[in-house]
Amino acid sequence: MRPNSQALKHKSSHDTEREFGGTLGAICIPIFLPLTVLFLICVSRSPEASVLQWPPSLPSADQLWDPLALVLLVGWIALHALLYVMPLGKVSEGLVLRDGTRLKYPINGFHGLCISGVLLMLLVGLEAPLGYLFELLVPLAVCAIAVSFLFSVYLYIRSFWAPSHALALGGNTGNPLYDFFIGRELNPRIGNFDLKYFCELRPGLIGWVVVNLGMLMKEVELRGSPSLAMMLVNSFQLLYVADALWNEEAVLTTMDIVHDGFGFMLVFGDLAWVPFTYSLQASFLVMHPQALTALGAAVIIALNGIGYYIFRKSNSQKNQFRRDPSHPSVARLETIATATGKRLLVSGWWGLVRHPNYLGDLLMALAWSLPCGFSHLLPYFYVIYFTVLLIHREDRDERQCRAKYGVAWDTYCRRVPYRIFPYIY
Ligand code: NDP
Repeated sequence: MRPNSQALKHKSSHDTEREFGGTLGAICIPIFLPLTVLFLICVSRSPEASVLQWPPSLPSADQLWDPLALVLLVGWIALHALLYVMPLGKVSEGLVLRDGTRLKYPINGFHGLCISGVLLMLLVGLEAPLGYLFELLVPLAVCAIAVSFLFSVYLYIRSFWAPSHALALGGNTGNPLYDFFIGRELNPRIGNFDLKYFCELRPGLIGWVVVNLGMLMKEVELRGSPSLAMMLVNSFQLLYVADALWNEEAVLTTMDIVHDGFGFMLVFGDLAWVPFTYSLQASFLVMHPQALTALGAAVIIALNGIGYYIFRKSNSQKNQFRRDPSHPSVARLETIATATGKRLLVSGWWGLVRHPNYLGDLLMALAWSLPCGFSHLLPYFYVIYFTVLLIHREDRDERQCRAKYGVAWDTYCRRVPYRIFPYIY
């Protein structure tokens, strides 16, 4: 049932609502964020590792480019494109689109992770110098940024051939800078190959794990064995990536797939920001080894475990409820009706706070930083940035849900007053 579709169709010609600071944001973010990626990588390996150091640590011109980095990046993306089209795993349908159709998606990202893992183990067995990724990090990031820009230009241009119902509601303002940034087309595809879905969880996310492994191997080169802190960071983040790919189907109901167009914001986030800033803790530990006691490690493991439990349980509960509200695991939960025909959970995890999945994610983010000790701010970049991102994302989602569900959403907010942190926020 899609009672909102008429209202949505009326909005699809030119939507004037702007996010991320509108046109100014669309100009500044594509300049500022790529520079931030390069800056943070350089800081993480400098002796001071200080984000406040003046003059700031910046790469010299000869550190920016290495043809090997381009070959590796393009080869990596091609490998995952090949794994995507291989007939592995099941095929699942996305949510109903505005034209009433549903797209099909291969659920084989976890296979891609496992095959990548086997290939990497072979390389380790063959004594390939994976630690060299540490030296290649800046040129790899430069190539990923360049690829993100070129790919976004391609996506922007091709979107003018897409039918109007295939455009994202928020990406069709008519302002080229903003639309390039936010993304015009909702589900750009080449044949059955879905470009947004492919980028969302594969080359960048699995690439992040590979960068981490490269940092671990560099540590082995330098000090003979990996440190406990490095092993924790690698294991926690591998668990996070493996979980995302194991539950790949759940991405089909997220904001990125359902609502956002595919433009620079998502392309750069997927291909450059995630692999090169989420791996900062591992990169930091190469040059700044940290001693970690067994008790400290146990506390950090417990924190990551609690965060993961909340994150996984709440995401699975909502996903199950959206896919089949009569399923025994969710059928007894209390819900409220909305005018759209969909219901909202008001008990279980979604009765605790309005975004329990964000709460779990943030606890894990803290656990990834703690192995790096308290001497530097840089390893806490992820948890600080992620808190800002999720507070902003929560606000965006609230606005979208209020527009979708109206008075029912207000009732939900009264029943569940806290957004992310119980009794705090
Ligand atoms: P969510 O999975 O939180 O989905 C939000 C949607 O859920 C809403 O739009 C609404 O959609 C539905 N919903 C909200 N409240 C209820 C309710 N009470 N009952 C039923 N449905 C409800 O969105 P995200 O895509 O933001 O997050 C997915 C996961 O990805 C999270 O765990 C997040 O932490 C993680 N994430 C990680 C990032 C990273 O960089 N590591 C970045 C972004 C997200 P509808 O009603 O239309 O179904």
